[in-house]
Amino acid sequence: MTTLTVHDLFVRYGKSIVAVQGASIEVREGEIVSLLGQNGAGKSTILKVIAGLQPPLSGEVSFGDIDLLHKGANRIAAGIAYVPEDRGVFASLSVGENLRLGAVTRRDRAGVDADIEMQLERFPILRKYWSRGASLLSGGEQQQLSIARALMIRPKLLLLDEPTLGLAPIIVDLIFDVIQQLNDEGVTILLVEQNAVRSIAISDRSYVVQAPGRIIGSGTAQELADNAAVVDYLGFS
Ligand code: ATP
Repeated sequence: MTTLTVHDLFVRYGKSIVAVQGASIEVREGEIVSLLGQNGAGKSTILKVIAGLQPPLSGEVSFGDIDLLHKGANRIAAGIAYVPEDRGVFASLSVGENLRLGAVTRRDRAGVDADIEMQLERFPILRKYWSRGASLLSGGEQQQLSIARALMIRPKLLLLDEPTLGLAPIIVDLIFDVIQQLNDEGVTILLVEQNAVRSIAISDRSYVVQAPGRIIGSGTAQELADNAAVVDYLGFS
């Protein structure tokens, strides 16, 4: 069992901005877990620490027996892939080049080709626009490219930051379907979302984050529905 454990995490930006205060979360192998909460709550910051993009003030972050806060801890080698909120596609490169870049650490050419084919099956729009510059894709198409590229390392754990933000309802459906499909294929998912209803429905468990970076509740859909503070904060009726 490879469990992601975040324990007592504190993060500050500069001297004065407190982004995360004592957050602890756990994502067990095979789960879909969501981080929910309003803008500025600290969700993306927690994901960035796990992805190695933001050093914390203190706390512990491990994936199985790998200490992710240890200097030089390699996320890709550990099987952790990250899809940032801004999607992070290389705008000046084609769809195909972006996908190949996702596999830049791999040496198994045949395996890479097979995986690209698998992603083109999963996201047919990427096959259609294979040679097109990524900057010419719509937001929803870029999101699909960003996820497909992250999958090129064959991750055990996929970190998704607001993958449906600003997308048309039909693409939101597609992204949630893909998340479920990936999980069925064995990928563990940690999802940051503002769409609390959809996220809770797809997740095994969720954590609710309130600014500045405190976890005010967690659990299954039923446990969250029974938690008055969570219901009040997320605005469910
Ligand atoms: P959103 O849904 O808006 O992305 P979030 O819950 O993901 O919100 P974070 O992006 O983690 O929240 O932000 C937490 C706090 O840290 C906010 O007050 C935010 O303004 C601040 N913050 C985030 N990134 C930086 C940064 N690079 N420099 C300074 N402050 C930052």
